[in-house]
Amino acid sequence: MHAGMVIIGAGECGGRAALTLRELGYDGPVTLVGDEPHLPYERPPLSKDAMTSDAAEIKTIASDEILAEKSIRHIHSVQAVAIDRPAHMVRLSDGSALPYDKLLLATGSTPRKLPMPGLGSRCVYLRTFADALAIRAHLSPANRIAIIGGGFIGLELAASARKAGAAVSVIEAQPRILLRGVPAEIAEIIHQAHEAEGVTVLTGQGIADIADDGAEVHIMLADGQDIVADLAVIGIGAVPVTGLAAEAGLTVDNGIAVNGELQTIDPDIFAAGDCCSFPLAVYAGRRVRLEAWRNAQEQGALAAKNMLGAREAHAAVPWFWSDQYGLSLQVAGLSDEGKSTVRRDLGDGAFILFHLAEDGRLVAASGLGTGNAVARDIRLAEMLIAKRARPAPEALGSPDVKLKSLLAA
Ligand code: FAD
Ligand code: NAP
Repeated sequence: MHAGMVIIGAGECGGRAALTLRELGYDGPVTLVGDEPHLPYERPPLSKDAMTSDAAEIKTIASDEILAEKSIRHIHSVQAVAIDRPAHMVRLSDGSALPYDKLLLATGSTPRKLPMPGLGSRCVYLRTFADALAIRAHLSPANRIAIIGGGFIGLELAASARKAGAAVSVIEAQPRILLRGVPAEIAEIIHQAHEAEGVTVLTGQGIADIADDGAEVHIMLADGQDIVADLAVIGIGAVPVTGLAAEAGLTVDNGIAVNGELQTIDPDIFAAGDCCSFPLAVYAGRRVRLEAWRNAQEQGALAAKNMLGAREAHAAVPWFWSDQYGLSLQVAGLSDEGKSTVRRDLGDGAFILFHLAEDGRLVAASGLGTGNAVARDIRLAEMLIAKRARPAPEALGSPDVKLKSLLAA
């Protein structure tokens, strides 16, 4: 009798891993444990459609029917509180215990907390569907929304809040928005789009004090400005959820440390998605932690394969997108690996910046345009990055040269 596969964390990564185990023909017990009350669901809509659509609907990854049909046991509203590695057992917050043959940690990440006194009920974070519902209730023309952090959460939410008619300010400590992972040229256009839509974007602004009396919030900036809001949403980054792994003696290094096969130092325990750090093969094994939807999906599927003994190494190129107003940003690869940049214009204001390493290798591509304008070329760039190609900069910069021809070369 098999103890089976246990997955902790019923998010994008955990949900995908459970489904993949069945797609690969595994017929032993599969148990998915999640501390949220919902079926596994998509987070990207939480800052976008869930804020602006007529009804805030949860977008589930797998229905109850699908989970039942595939004999995936989903235990919800229960936390895994300890891993007994010698006994191959996970202890749960309801007092029960689950035996496992192989265990996957897909515990995700959680909002970084603003370490300041004065935060109250009008200062909130956005990670879960419950958070999204609470924020959505405040998005109306009568309300002032202050957003602390000019990263992805902050900017996507600013766009959604403006769509709902709220007055919006974004406060960013760094000299510009999207400082990490997005080139300045693109960040500047996004900054201008927000201002054109009526958002007050305050960059290079430290926060001296916050006072939240439960009715409104006063955010005192270091330069003396007092930003008054009905709701403050804090989006200052995310930290990996690693406590369970650390207490079980697994290595934590900017996330639960895994090898290229997503295996921890314990051969029967894997980790994947936002919670893990892993060596990225396309960048000579540079250890990274990615907080992106597609990575969570891909790693969930790969972890499932390797739990079944495939021993396949992670080889994907990082990719993420962000939608704000009509603008769509897509980034393939890690742009901080680049030393020089070549621009290709695609028409109608859409463009791609290709990031080249010192030796001419294409290491990343960042594209901005409306709708799907950059999708196809970013996909081709991703394939060039995976091939470790060194395309001629003139060819990359010329819209007359098809990227597909560079791939064939
Ligand atoms: P999570 O989705 O965080 O899931 C982990 C789950 O595990 C959670 O439900 C958590 O509560 C649970 N858990 C943790 N510990 C335990 C425990 N001990 N016991 C039981 N359960 C536990 N990415 C993009 O590329 N593009 C986007 O446009 C985009 N938009 C986003 C918008 C928002 C508002 C947010 C929050 C994220 C967005 N992302 C986006 C990022 C993307 O959603 C994440 O990278 C992805 O959800 C990570 O999946 P995961 O399964 O690793 O972790
Ligand atoms: P983020 O993208 O890392 O951005 C956080 C921003 O807040 C950074 O610019 C950060 O600057 C800044 N900041 C940090 N401390 C601050 C302070 N005290 N005052 C003001 N600004 C401060 O993280 P996020 O936007 O909070 O997103 C959280 C998670 O959701 C991440 O995992 C993210 O990937 C995910 N998400 C992704 C998308 C997407 O990919 N489209 C969309 C929404 C959410 P520093 O760089 O100096 O820290």
